[in-house]
Amino acid sequence: MTPIRFESPVRLKETVISALREKLVYTAPGVSAVAITTVEGAKPLIELAYEGALSEAEVVEKASQLVREFARGFLEVEKEILHDRRHVVPAWSEPVYDAMKEAGWVVEYETGRVMLAGPAARLFAFFDAEFARLARDYDAPPVKFPVLISVKTLQKADYFASFPHHLTLASHLVEDAEVLRDLVKTASENPEAISFGGPCLCTEHVNSPAVCFHFYEALSGRTLDGVERSTAVGPSFRYEAGNLRTLERLWDFTMREIIFVGPSDEVDALRMSAMAPVMALVEALGLRSHIETASDPFFVGNFAGQTFYQLSHRTKFELRLYLPFETDRSLAAASFNWHQQFFGTRFGINTAAGEPAGTACVAFGVERWVYAFAAQYGLDPRNYPKYLLERW
Ligand SMILES: [Zn+2]
Repeated sequence: MTPIRFESPVRLKETVISALREKLVYTAPGVSAVAITTVEGAKPLIELAYEGALSEAEVVEKASQLVREFARGFLEVEKEILHDRRHVVPAWSEPVYDAMKEAGWVVEYETGRVMLAGPAARLFAFFDAEFARLARDYDAPPVKFPVLISVKTLQKADYFASFPHHLTLASHLVEDAEVLRDLVKTASENPEAISFGGPCLCTEHVNSPAVCFHFYEALSGRTLDGVERSTAVGPSFRYEAGNLRTLERLWDFTMREIIFVGPSDEVDALRMSAMAPVMALVEALGLRSHIETASDPFFVGNFAGQTFYQLSHRTKFELRLYLPFETDRSLAAASFNWHQQFFGTRFGINTAAGEPAGTACVAFGVERWVYAFAAQYGLDPRNYPKYLLERW
Protein backbone atom coordinates (compact mmCIF):
# COMPACT_ATOMS: atom_id res chain seq x y z
CA MET A 1 0.00 0.00 0.00
CA THR A 2 1.49 3.34 -1.03
CA PRO A 3 0.21 6.50 0.54
CA ILE A 4 -1.37 9.02 -1.80
CA ARG A 5 -0.36 12.60 -1.02
CA PHE A 6 -1.87 15.74 -2.48
CA GLU A 7 -2.51 19.37 -1.65
CA SER A 8 -6.08 20.27 -0.67
CA PRO A 9 -7.70 22.10 -3.60
CA VAL A 10 -8.89 24.84 -1.21
CA ARG A 11 -7.96 26.30 2.17
CA LEU A 12 -9.79 24.62 5.04
CA LYS A 13 -11.22 25.85 8.32
CA GLU A 14 -10.49 23.84 11.47
CA THR A 15 -13.97 22.31 11.78
CA VAL A 16 -13.86 21.23 8.12
CA ILE A 17 -10.44 19.62 8.66
CA SER A 18 -11.71 17.57 11.60
CA ALA A 19 -14.81 16.53 9.61
CA LEU A 20 -12.64 15.53 6.62
CA ARG A 21 -10.35 13.44 8.84
CA GLU A 22 -13.43 11.25 9.38
CA LYS A 23 -15.15 11.56 6.02
CA LEU A 24 -12.35 10.99 3.49
CA VAL A 25 -12.39 7.24 4.26
CA TYR A 26 -15.65 7.28 2.28
CA THR A 27 -13.86 8.53 -0.86
CA ALA A 28 -13.71 5.04 -2.38
CA PRO A 29 -13.51 1.44 -1.18
CA GLY A 30 -9.91 0.76 -0.14
CA VAL A 31 -9.15 4.09 1.57
CA SER A 32 -8.14 2.99 5.07
CA ALA A 33 -6.52 5.98 6.76
CA VAL A 34 -6.52 9.74 6.42
CA ALA A 35 -4.01 12.31 7.62
CA ILE A 36 -4.34 16.05 7.11
CA THR A 37 -1.43 18.34 7.92
CA THR A 38 -2.04 22.05 8.16
CA VAL A 39 0.51 24.35 6.60
CA GLU A 40 0.92 27.91 7.88
CA GLY A 41 -0.45 30.33 5.29
CA ALA A 42 -1.07 27.64 2.64
CA LYS A 43 -3.46 24.86 1.70
CA PRO A 44 -3.26 21.74 3.90
CA LEU A 45 -1.61 18.51 2.76
CA ILE A 46 -3.77 15.39 2.63
CA GLU A 47 -2.48 11.83 2.81
CA LEU A 48 -4.63 8.76 2.16
CA ALA A 49 -3.69 5.12 2.65
CA TYR A 50 -5.20 3.38 -0.35
CA GLU A 51 -5.24 -0.08 -1.84
CA GLY A 52 -7.69 -0.71 -4.66
CA ALA A 53 -8.46 -0.66 -8.34
CA LEU A 54 -8.42 3.10 -8.98
CA SER A 55 -5.39 5.01 -10.23
CA GLU A 56 -3.77 7.57 -7.97
CA ALA A 57 -5.14 10.40 -10.13
CA GLU A 58 -8.69 9.02 -9.84
CA VAL A 59 -8.48 8.77 -6.05
CA VAL A 60 -7.10 12.32 -5.81
CA GLU A 61 -9.91 13.59 -8.05
CA LYS A 62 -12.64 11.87 -6.00
CA ALA A 63 -11.12 13.01 -2.70
CA SER A 64 -10.63 16.58 -3.95
CA GLN A 65 -14.27 16.72 -4.95
CA LEU A 66 -15.32 15.68 -1.44
CA VAL A 67 -12.95 18.26 0.07
CA ARG A 68 -14.49 21.01 -2.08
CA GLU A 69 -18.03 19.92 -1.16
CA PHE A 70 -17.29 19.92 2.57
CA ALA A 71 -15.53 23.29 2.41
CA ARG A 72 -18.16 25.02 0.28
CA GLY A 73 -20.00 27.77 2.13
CA PHE A 74 -18.69 26.71 5.53
CA LEU A 75 -18.61 29.38 8.23
CA GLU A 76 -16.53 28.70 11.33
CA VAL A 77 -18.31 29.06 14.68
CA GLU A 78 -16.21 29.35 17.82
CA LYS A 79 -16.94 26.42 20.18
CA GLU A 80 -18.30 27.28 23.57
CA ILE A 81 -16.96 25.39 26.60
CA LEU A 82 -19.17 24.65 29.59
CA HIS A 83 -18.42 22.65 32.75
CA ASP A 84 -14.67 22.65 32.33
CA ARG A 85 -12.79 19.88 34.16
CA ARG A 86 -9.66 19.98 32.04
CA HIS A 87 -7.55 20.81 35.11
CA VAL A 88 -7.87 17.19 36.33
CA VAL A 89 -4.66 15.20 35.90
CA PRO A 90 -5.56 11.56 35.21
CA ALA A 91 -3.81 8.85 37.23
CA TRP A 92 -2.93 6.84 34.13
CA SER A 93 -1.50 7.88 30.76
CA GLU A 94 -0.46 4.69 28.97
CA PRO A 95 -2.51 3.25 26.08
CA VAL A 96 -4.91 0.62 27.41
CA TYR A 97 -6.61 -1.10 24.49
CA ASP A 98 -4.00 -3.82 23.88
CA ALA A 99 -3.72 -4.36 27.64
CA MET A 100 -7.51 -4.76 27.85
CA LYS A 101 -7.37 -7.41 25.14
CA GLU A 102 -4.45 -9.22 26.78
CA ALA A 103 -6.22 -9.23 30.15
CA GLY A 104 -9.38 -10.67 28.56
CA TRP A 105 -11.45 -7.56 29.28
CA VAL A 106 -12.12 -7.19 25.55
CA VAL A 107 -12.43 -9.87 22.90
CA GLU A 108 -12.21 -8.29 19.47
CA TYR A 109 -14.02 -10.34 16.82
CA GLU A 110 -12.88 -7.84 14.23
CA THR A 111 -12.23 -4.11 14.33
CA GLY A 112 -15.48 -2.47 15.44
CA ARG A 113 -17.18 -5.54 16.95
CA VAL A 114 -16.21 -6.62 20.44
CA MET A 115 -17.22 -8.58 23.49
CA LEU A 116 -16.66 -7.04 26.92
CA ALA A 117 -15.84 -9.34 29.82
CA GLY A 118 -14.52 -9.25 33.39
CA PRO A 119 -14.01 -5.77 34.85
CA ALA A 120 -14.88 -4.14 31.49
CA ALA A 121 -18.32 -5.78 31.61
CA ARG A 122 -18.71 -4.66 35.23
CA LEU A 123 -17.78 -1.10 34.27
CA PHE A 124 -20.30 -1.26 31.43
CA ALA A 125 -23.08 -2.35 33.81
CA PHE A 126 -22.05 0.27 36.37
CA PHE A 127 -22.17 3.13 33.87
CA ASP A 128 -25.48 2.09 32.41
CA ALA A 129 -26.96 1.75 35.92
CA GLU A 130 -25.82 5.31 36.67
CA PHE A 131 -27.50 6.59 33.48
CA ALA A 132 -30.67 4.63 34.30
CA ARG A 133 -30.68 6.20 37.78
CA LEU A 134 -30.48 9.64 36.18
CA ALA A 135 -33.48 8.69 34.01
CA ARG A 136 -35.43 7.75 37.16
CA ASP A 137 -34.60 11.17 38.65
CA TYR A 138 -36.21 12.64 35.52
CA ASP A 139 -39.32 10.41 35.85
CA ALA A 140 -38.49 8.82 32.52
CA PRO A 141 -39.89 5.27 32.59
CA PRO A 142 -37.90 2.50 30.93
CA VAL A 143 -39.10 1.22 27.56
CA LYS A 144 -37.69 -1.39 25.22
CA PHE A 145 -37.35 -0.66 21.50
CA PRO A 146 -36.61 -3.13 18.71
CA VAL A 147 -33.20 -3.16 17.06
CA LEU A 148 -34.64 -2.81 13.55
CA ILE A 149 -36.10 0.47 12.45
CA SER A 150 -38.08 0.97 9.27
CA VAL A 151 -36.76 2.87 6.29
CA LYS A 152 -39.98 4.94 6.45
CA THR A 153 -39.24 6.11 10.00
CA LEU A 154 -35.70 7.12 9.07
CA GLN A 155 -37.01 8.92 6.00
CA LYS A 156 -39.32 10.98 8.22
CA ALA A 157 -36.33 11.77 10.42
CA ASP A 158 -34.41 12.91 7.30
CA TYR A 159 -31.66 10.46 8.21
CA PHE A 160 -30.63 9.42 4.71
CA ALA A 161 -29.88 12.97 3.58
CA SER A 162 -27.68 13.60 6.61
CA PHE A 163 -25.87 10.35 7.44
CA PRO A 164 -25.86 8.01 4.40
CA HIS A 165 -22.32 6.88 5.28
CA HIS A 166 -23.41 5.32 8.60
CA LEU A 167 -26.22 3.14 7.23
CA THR A 168 -26.28 -0.52 8.18
CA LEU A 169 -29.11 -2.11 6.22
CA ALA A 170 -30.95 -5.14 7.55
CA SER A 171 -31.88 -7.42 4.68
CA HIS A 172 -33.66 -10.71 4.29
CA LEU A 173 -33.81 -13.09 1.39
CA VAL A 174 -36.65 -12.66 -1.05
CA GLU A 175 -39.49 -15.16 -0.45
CA ASP A 176 -38.62 -17.32 -3.40
CA ALA A 177 -38.15 -21.08 -3.05
CA GLU A 178 -35.55 -21.14 -5.78
CA VAL A 179 -33.37 -18.54 -4.02
CA LEU A 180 -33.72 -20.42 -0.71
CA ARG A 181 -32.98 -23.78 -2.33
CA ASP A 182 -29.85 -22.33 -3.94
CA LEU A 183 -28.59 -21.15 -0.57
CA VAL A 184 -29.24 -24.54 1.03
CA LYS A 185 -27.32 -26.19 -1.78
CA THR A 186 -24.33 -23.84 -1.53
CA ALA A 187 -24.32 -24.08 2.28
CA SER A 188 -24.12 -27.85 2.21
CA GLU A 189 -21.90 -28.37 -0.83
CA ASN A 190 -19.61 -25.38 -0.95
CA PRO A 191 -19.98 -23.23 2.19
CA GLU A 192 -16.93 -21.06 1.35
CA ALA A 193 -18.77 -19.79 -1.71
CA ILE A 194 -21.63 -18.26 0.28
CA SER A 195 -21.93 -14.54 -0.32
CA PHE A 196 -24.86 -12.20 0.02
CA GLY A 197 -25.84 -9.27 -2.10
CA GLY A 198 -27.61 -8.59 -5.35
CA PRO A 199 -31.24 -8.98 -6.31
CA CYS A 200 -32.09 -11.76 -3.83
CA LEU A 201 -32.09 -9.31 -0.91
CA CYS A 202 -34.97 -7.12 0.29
CA THR A 203 -34.34 -4.13 2.51
CA GLU A 204 -37.11 -2.24 4.21
CA HIS A 205 -35.36 -1.98 7.53
CA VAL A 206 -32.14 -0.64 8.96
CA ASN A 207 -30.23 -1.59 12.10
CA SER A 208 -31.13 1.36 14.26
CA PRO A 209 -28.51 4.13 14.29
CA ALA A 210 -29.98 5.80 17.40
CA VAL A 211 -32.56 5.15 20.09
CA CYS A 212 -34.87 8.16 20.13
CA PHE A 213 -36.37 7.86 16.60
CA HIS A 214 -38.33 4.84 17.85
CA PHE A 215 -40.01 7.00 20.48
CA TYR A 216 -41.06 9.70 18.02
CA GLU A 217 -42.56 7.04 15.77
CA ALA A 218 -44.46 5.60 18.76
CA LEU A 219 -45.90 9.04 19.56
CA SER A 220 -46.68 9.98 15.97
CA GLY A 221 -50.03 11.63 15.39
CA ARG A 222 -50.60 12.25 19.11
CA THR A 223 -51.41 15.39 21.04
CA LEU A 224 -49.51 15.47 24.34
CA ASP A 225 -50.71 16.94 27.63
CA GLY A 226 -47.30 17.73 29.05
CA VAL A 227 -43.83 16.32 28.49
CA GLU A 228 -43.66 12.65 27.50
CA ARG A 229 -40.52 10.97 28.78
CA SER A 230 -38.83 7.63 28.37
CA THR A 231 -35.47 5.95 28.66
CA ALA A 232 -34.07 2.99 26.78
CA VAL A 233 -30.76 1.33 26.15
CA GLY A 234 -29.97 -0.56 22.99
CA PRO A 235 -27.51 -1.42 20.28
CA SER A 236 -26.86 1.33 17.75
CA PHE A 237 -25.19 0.83 14.40
CA ARG A 238 -23.02 3.33 12.58
CA TYR A 239 -20.75 2.04 9.89
CA GLU A 240 -17.50 3.97 10.20
CA ALA A 241 -15.35 2.35 7.47
CA GLY A 242 -11.63 2.87 8.13
CA ASN A 243 -12.45 4.92 11.24
CA LEU A 244 -13.52 1.89 13.25
CA ARG A 245 -11.13 1.32 16.15
CA THR A 246 -10.79 0.19 19.79
CA LEU A 247 -13.88 0.84 21.94
CA GLU A 248 -13.86 4.36 20.59
CA ARG A 249 -15.62 3.70 17.30
CA LEU A 250 -17.56 0.50 17.23
CA TRP A 251 -19.81 -0.40 14.33
CA ASP A 252 -22.21 -1.92 16.84
CA PHE A 253 -22.22 0.05 20.11
CA THR A 254 -24.61 0.61 23.00
CA MET A 255 -26.52 3.81 23.53
CA ARG A 256 -28.59 4.80 26.55
CA GLU A 257 -30.96 7.69 25.91
CA ILE A 258 -33.29 9.75 28.06
CA ILE A 259 -35.91 11.28 25.75
CA PHE A 260 -38.25 14.23 26.23
CA VAL A 261 -41.13 15.23 23.94
CA GLY A 262 -43.33 18.25 24.68
CA PRO A 263 -43.33 22.06 24.55
CA SER A 264 -40.10 22.97 22.80
CA ASP A 265 -38.71 25.36 25.43
CA GLU A 266 -39.49 22.87 28.22
CA VAL A 267 -37.66 19.97 26.60
CA ASP A 268 -34.71 22.26 25.83
CA ALA A 269 -34.53 23.25 29.52
CA LEU A 270 -34.72 19.58 30.57
CA ARG A 271 -31.76 18.49 28.46
CA MET A 272 -29.73 21.52 29.61
CA SER A 273 -30.52 20.70 33.24
CA ALA A 274 -29.17 17.16 32.79
CA MET A 275 -25.61 18.48 32.41
CA ALA A 276 -25.31 19.16 36.16
CA PRO A 277 -26.05 15.59 37.36
CA VAL A 278 -23.89 14.12 34.58
CA MET A 279 -21.01 16.38 35.67
CA ALA A 280 -21.63 15.34 39.29
CA LEU A 281 -21.01 11.73 38.19
CA VAL A 282 -17.90 12.78 36.24
CA GLU A 283 -16.67 14.60 39.34
CA ALA A 284 -17.40 11.67 41.68
CA LEU A 285 -15.27 9.56 39.32
CA GLY A 286 -12.52 12.19 39.05
CA LEU A 287 -12.49 12.17 35.25
CA ARG A 288 -10.81 14.78 33.06
CA SER A 289 -13.52 16.20 30.81
CA HIS A 290 -15.42 19.17 29.50
CA ILE A 291 -18.72 19.95 27.79
CA GLU A 292 -18.72 21.91 24.53
CA THR A 293 -21.07 22.96 21.74
CA ALA A 294 -21.04 20.32 19.00
CA SER A 295 -22.57 19.24 15.72
CA ASP A 296 -23.59 15.91 14.23
CA PRO A 297 -21.35 14.13 11.70
CA PHE A 298 -23.27 15.30 8.61
CA PHE A 299 -22.24 14.18 5.16
CA VAL A 300 -21.91 16.61 2.24
CA GLY A 301 -25.09 18.42 1.31
CA ASN A 302 -26.10 18.98 4.90
CA PHE A 303 -22.62 19.66 6.27
CA ALA A 304 -22.00 23.41 6.00
CA GLY A 305 -25.53 24.61 6.71
CA GLN A 306 -26.47 22.15 9.45
CA THR A 307 -23.13 22.33 11.25
CA PHE A 308 -23.34 26.13 11.36
CA TYR A 309 -26.94 25.94 12.51
CA GLN A 310 -26.26 23.42 15.30
CA LEU A 311 -23.21 25.27 16.62
CA SER A 312 -24.75 28.73 16.51
CA HIS A 313 -28.15 27.66 17.90
CA ARG A 314 -26.60 25.53 20.66
CA THR A 315 -28.80 22.57 19.74
CA LYS A 316 -26.10 20.02 20.63
CA PHE A 317 -23.60 19.82 23.47
CA GLU A 318 -21.13 17.02 23.99
CA LEU A 319 -19.48 15.78 27.12
CA ARG A 320 -15.93 14.87 26.16
CA LEU A 321 -13.81 12.48 28.24
CA TYR A 322 -10.07 12.60 27.73
CA LEU A 323 -7.80 9.80 26.52
CA PRO A 324 -4.57 10.81 28.27
CA PHE A 325 -2.35 8.48 26.24
CA GLU A 326 -2.58 11.08 23.46
CA THR A 327 -2.07 14.73 24.23
CA ASP A 328 -5.34 16.63 24.32
CA ARG A 329 -7.41 13.94 22.68
CA SER A 330 -10.92 13.44 23.98
CA LEU A 331 -13.93 11.36 23.14
CA ALA A 332 -17.61 12.39 22.96
CA ALA A 333 -19.19 10.20 25.65
CA ALA A 334 -22.56 11.92 26.08
CA SER A 335 -24.61 14.44 24.16
CA PHE A 336 -27.40 16.81 25.13
CA ASN A 337 -29.55 17.33 22.06
CA TRP A 338 -32.45 19.59 21.29
CA HIS A 339 -34.06 19.11 17.89
CA GLN A 340 -36.45 22.05 18.30
CA GLN A 341 -39.75 21.20 16.53
CA PHE A 342 -38.20 19.21 13.68
CA PHE A 343 -39.28 15.71 14.76
CA GLY A 344 -42.57 16.98 16.22
CA THR A 345 -43.42 18.36 12.78
CA ARG A 346 -42.15 15.33 10.86
CA PHE A 347 -43.95 12.81 13.08
CA GLY A 348 -47.12 14.86 13.59
CA ILE A 349 -46.75 15.16 17.39
CA ASN A 350 -48.46 18.19 18.89
CA THR A 351 -48.59 19.94 22.24
CA ALA A 352 -51.86 20.76 24.04
CA ALA A 353 -51.41 24.33 22.75
CA GLY A 354 -51.60 23.01 19.17
CA GLU A 355 -47.93 23.57 18.37
CA PRO A 356 -45.63 20.89 16.93
CA ALA A 357 -43.90 19.24 19.89
CA GLY A 358 -40.24 19.87 20.61
CA THR A 359 -37.95 16.91 21.24
CA ALA A 360 -34.75 16.54 23.20
CA CYS A 361 -32.56 13.66 24.26
CA VAL A 362 -29.59 12.99 26.47
CA ALA A 363 -27.53 10.17 24.97
CA PHE A 364 -24.67 8.14 26.43
CA GLY A 365 -22.27 5.94 24.44
CA VAL A 366 -21.73 3.30 27.10
CA GLU A 367 -18.59 1.56 25.71
CA ARG A 368 -16.89 4.94 25.37
CA TRP A 369 -17.31 5.54 29.11
CA VAL A 370 -15.68 2.17 29.79
CA TYR A 371 -12.79 3.00 27.46
CA ALA A 372 -12.16 6.56 28.67
CA PHE A 373 -12.42 5.44 32.29
CA ALA A 374 -9.84 2.67 31.72
CA ALA A 375 -7.64 5.13 29.81
CA GLN A 376 -7.67 7.53 32.78
CA TYR A 377 -7.32 4.91 35.55
CA GLY A 378 -5.54 1.90 34.04
CA LEU A 379 -6.46 -1.71 34.60
CA ASP A 380 -5.86 -2.18 38.33
CA PRO A 381 -9.21 -1.82 40.13
CA ARG A 382 -7.36 -1.12 43.40
CA ASN A 383 -6.69 2.35 41.98
CA TYR A 384 -10.32 3.00 41.08
CA PRO A 385 -12.32 5.74 42.84
CA LYS A 386 -14.32 4.86 45.93
CA TYR A 387 -17.61 5.94 44.34
CA LEU A 388 -17.23 3.24 41.69
CA LEU A 389 -15.87 0.51 43.96
CA GLU A 390 -18.90 0.87 46.24
CA ARG A 391 -21.33 0.42 43.36
CA TRP A 392 -19.99 -1.82 40.62
ZN1 LIG B 1 -31.59 10.88 20.54
